[in-house]
Amino acid sequence: MKTENTGARRRIGVMGGTFDPIHHGHLVAASEVAASLGLDEVIFVPTGQPWQKQGRDVSEAEHRYLMTVIATASNPSFSVSRVDIDRAGLTYTIDTLKDLKLQYPDAEFYFITGADALAQIFKWKDIDKLWPLAHFVGVTRPGHVLSDFGRKEDITLTEIPAMAISSTDCRQRVAQGKPVWYLVPDGVVQYIAKHRLYHPKPEPAVKPA
Ligand code: ATP
Ligand code: MG
Repeated sequence: MKTENTGARRRIGVMGGTFDPIHHGHLVAASEVAASLGLDEVIFVPTGQPWQKQGRDVSEAEHRYLMTVIATASNPSFSVSRVDIDRAGLTYTIDTLKDLKLQYPDAEFYFITGADALAQIFKWKDIDKLWPLAHFVGVTRPGHVLSDFGRKEDITLTEIPAMAISSTDCRQRVAQGKPVWYLVPDGVVQYIAKHRLYHPKPEPAVKPA
């Protein structure tokens, strides 16, 4: 997409996540950071195979991508990138940012993470190579403390409206037959039902003896 060149670098938020499923906590985080830092747009980047989540079943990338598209479609400043799901292997933030930099060479990136992810930041691959690629924005998240990390000069902390929602909880609710209305966007509720995501697997039919 061609944008008018005002001379200023485009400020782009990057919201990485597994989005299994995307919920209103993710959307509020992106919207609040965009407003408070004056970002031009936010790109949601569903992970391929997340390295932190090896050992648990993550839904197919295509389902997570489509739910993210559905959830963000109505906001003209939000878009979804396939860079991570189209790259083979485990997803590392360093690769996400390098790929986005190729697509938007002149942009300034703001990588948005919740308090829990921020606490893990120093375990990330090539963390020292990440700082020049993006600013980091840590957002508050109920149940997690936003503190106790180094490099404060490179991290902006932002207080956002508290949304005590997690994808884990949404998956468990669906599995237990509880509603996820108003925790995730309406279209995502319907997508989950249509594809029977997170529902208990049907009992295998018992063969007659
Ligand atoms: P899961 O329970 O499967 O880990 P999640 O709800 O933590 O899912 P992720 O896809 O892991 O969602 O998170 C993507 C990013 O969004 C992370 O940086 C995470 O900290 C942040 N995030 C998720 N939920 C919230 C929330 N309710 N408030 C603020 N930030 C959030
Ligand atoms: Mg998480």
